[in-house]
Amino acid sequence: MRSLRTRSAAWVALVLVSAIILAFLAALQYRWISELSAAYLERGQASLETAVGQFLQDFHTELQQVCLEFRPEPAQAGRGDWLYLAYRYGEWQRTARRHKLVAGLFIWGPVSGGSPRLLSLSHSEMRLKSAPWPVALEPLRPRFDRMKNSRLLAWTISERIPALIRPLVRYSAPPGAREGAPPEVVGYLILELSREYIRSELLRELVARHFGGRGGLAYRVDIADPASADGFLYRSDATRPALTPATAAAAVRLIGPPLSEAASQLDIGPQPPRGASLVLPEDDATGWLLLVEPRQGSLAGIAAALRRRDLALSLGVLLLLAVSMGLIILFTYRYQRLARLQLDFVAGVSHELRTPLAVICSAADNLADGVVGSSAAVMDYGQLIRNEGRRLEAMVEQILRFSAAPGSRYEVRPVWVGEIIDAVVEEFRSSIGAAGFLVETKVDPELPQARTDPAVLRQCLQNLISNALKYGTDGKWMSIRAMVATEAQGPEIQVTVEDRGRGIPPGEQEQIFEPFYRGEYARTAQTHGTGLGLSLTKRIVEAVGGRVSVISTPGRGSAFTLHLPIAWP
Ligand code: ADP
Repeated sequence: MRSLRTRSAAWVALVLVSAIILAFLAALQYRWISELSAAYLERGQASLETAVGQFLQDFHTELQQVCLEFRPEPAQAGRGDWLYLAYRYGEWQRTARRHKLVAGLFIWGPVSGGSPRLLSLSHSEMRLKSAPWPVALEPLRPRFDRMKNSRLLAWTISERIPALIRPLVRYSAPPGAREGAPPEVVGYLILELSREYIRSELLRELVARHFGGRGGLAYRVDIADPASADGFLYRSDATRPALTPATAAAAVRLIGPPLSEAASQLDIGPQPPRGASLVLPEDDATGWLLLVEPRQGSLAGIAAALRRRDLALSLGVLLLLAVSMGLIILFTYRYQRLARLQLDFVAGVSHELRTPLAVICSAADNLADGVVGSSAAVMDYGQLIRNEGRRLEAMVEQILRFSAAPGSRYEVRPVWVGEIIDAVVEEFRSSIGAAGFLVETKVDPELPQARTDPAVLRQCLQNLISNALKYGTDGKWMSIRAMVATEAQGPEIQVTVEDRGRGIPPGEQEQIFEPFYRGEYARTAQTHGTGLGLSLTKRIVEAVGGRVSVISTPGRGSAFTLHLPIAWP
């Protein structure tokens, strides 16, 4: 008993240790996967920031190229001579790679000392002519009045038009002015840029260069432009919903300072390289806004999806591991138990064989030695030898049947159950009489034929009746019934062998059908048997399409039922 308890404790400990190892592995994997997804997110942010930074750098370089080309000469400004700019424009048109970027050149300023006027470059005559304000440049007009004496000498960009604007200044002090006087703004150079060129060539090229990937763009890029009719200067994929500062992975001004933190909940992309930029924004409200997002969705979303996938995968692997470990433990446990049962079986069988053999041998000795005198005594000895011999024969028969059962061929056919019950009860008549049992047999007169193998049915009944005789001695009563009953699967024939013996403890009711298993009582009371009867019954009745069940109450008795299919005509 103690060793049984120790063994159970060892198994429980093994299961617990396995569960702890699995839980530890699960926790490790969970941490590892979380770290992986955080690293993925970080790497994604970093490469997005790099791409945005390089994109902005290149865009500014393109604008600065224009600014450098059209750099005003303060000395010429002093004379009100702007013709050199017209020549530079001609040169630009002929030689610059992006000559289409500049769509027109205008100057607002005094001509030869006169009052300021708007001058436009005439391509055909290669000279500056006085011109009315074009509609496109109209928004600039009030600004020039405001900035009359501005000290801001940088290039600015009006993204609304779009145009690059630069004040034209004069350094030569007017007569009477002190030396070192601030430069005087005498006019403005306006370079109208081609929106169409920016949209369809410049941006397309830069986006492909910095946001490209294998087989197309790796990112979606939108550039919001409040001055455009559709609200966008550029869209890399017009079929998808437009990006917004709140949803994009990066939102940054193309020119000028980044958006305020409040405008974008997500990270603000890198700022343009301010030190290197010559161009300042003119108006924040109408500025171009670069919005970028990975093509497959938000970085956080992709990282979360990857994390979910990795978690599901590792959970699957862990489950597999847990199931395998569970199965190994279960099979080892079963194997050990079977080995133990077999050992018990060998011990039990040798004991069972030894007892009748000893009786037979001593009876034979007495007969051989002539100790038995009267013929009545000889008959008694003969009877004894026959009974013990039959017992031996029955036991050997059962063992042989059990080992032959898996490969047996069965002959399933319609069988009259009542006839077989009568035959088996007849076989047991003398044993029943000797045990002093009352046997009640009740077969439904309307009972149809069962579809089974008659030899199987006989063998099963023999096992059940012999058990009732062995374990039902308390009540000395046995009932054998056959009737039709309807179960969940439909009607069937049920053959029940019931006794009023000691019953079977609930904990044993499942195990009694396992090979070599003997109940606690059978073992301690040394009731003769091999532990094979019920297991053989279960095996063969199931092989012919039936099953066996038990209902038992300890102290009140047991009822074993064979469930057989009906042989429908
Ligand atoms: P055996 O009778 O040789 O031990 P069985 O396979 O026929 O083997 O039965 C297995 C066990 O089931 C028995 O050891 C006994 O504990 C229990 N058992 C079987 N039939 C009965 C019954 N009618 N009443 C009580 N216990 C039973």
